[in-house]
Amino acid sequence: MKKNLLGKTGLEVTELCFGALPFGPLQKNLPLEEATAVLCAALEGGINFIDTAQIYKTYAPIREALKQTKKHPVIASKSPATTYEEMQTAIEEALNELNLDEIDIFHLHAARVGEDVFTKRQGALECLYENKHRGRIKAVGISTHSVKVTARAATVEGIDVVFPLINKSGRGILDGSREEMEIAISHCVAQGKGVYLMKVLAGGTLVGDYAQAVEYARAIPGNASIAVGMVSKAEVEYNLAYFQDRKPSALPSLAALQKRFLVVESLCAGCLACVEACPNQAIIDRDGKGFIQQEACLTCGYCVGACPQFAIRIV
Ligand code: SF4
Ligand code: SF4
Repeated sequence: MKKNLLGKTGLEVTELCFGALPFGPLQKNLPLEEATAVLCAALEGGINFIDTAQIYKTYAPIREALKQTKKHPVIASKSPATTYEEMQTAIEEALNELNLDEIDIFHLHAARVGEDVFTKRQGALECLYENKHRGRIKAVGISTHSVKVTARAATVEGIDVVFPLINKSGRGILDGSREEMEIAISHCVAQGKGVYLMKVLAGGTLVGDYAQAVEYARAIPGNASIAVGMVSKAEVEYNLAYFQDRKPSALPSLAALQKRFLVVESLCAGCLACVEACPNQAIIDRDGKGFIQQEACLTCGYCVGACPQFAIRIV
């Protein structure tokens, strides 16, 4: 599979990155052994890049897959930490749970926050810089859904990698249009930032238009890799075949990929924690209960972990 340099980090990543959210507890919730097997298939098949996060709770299958395959992929993680101390805890947690001495990329996990993230979370950012200096992190990044944050990241000297959301339908992009996000990404690339992309299949909603959606993202100048979530070996094989220019077999089950998140009304206590947790403003207060507007939902699953009643289910 083609590999690209990630900006000036010196890291060389495959064009296809294993997105480690969907197989974890926020979404498919595969048992550890099964999740490990899916990731092993991806690594054995040629993928050398994994994107995870503190909140995805998928460090265990990654650790097990590294052990079983003896591979050393590039690993990115991220944390919503605000302070220096919180970020230090997040980094230690990642290193311990992944059984690593150093992690390749650590991002500020900043999905829905605004441009002031760089000042409001200055403590967390300083911690990332300090850990890079100490050799615990190779590159410092930011993951974002926002055009403004992406554009601003281009100007922040210490940021090595930017992980923005973009897809051909423009779904889920905050603070601007798809075209404006393309411009913001070009500014990052021009400043030597490593760029890889999230949600190019818009949370699975573009899976019926897979080739066009992937080719749109692949054609964005300077993009090094595309993170795609995979929850079965068949899905891994499909993605590998496409990115290795082999003819992919039919997707195992298109319907299985087109998941939806719903609030079970009878279980909902109306606390509205999910409204706050959703990075895409897809959940509204409808008659005192959470209600997911399907047209805005990116199927990220962040609301699932925020609900104290376990009232949000995947169907
Ligand atoms: S977090 Fe759960 S209980 Fe609270 S409003 Fe949302 S769905 Fe209902
Ligand atoms: S409702 Fe919001 S948080 Fe929940 S899956 Fe959809 S986009 Fe993600």
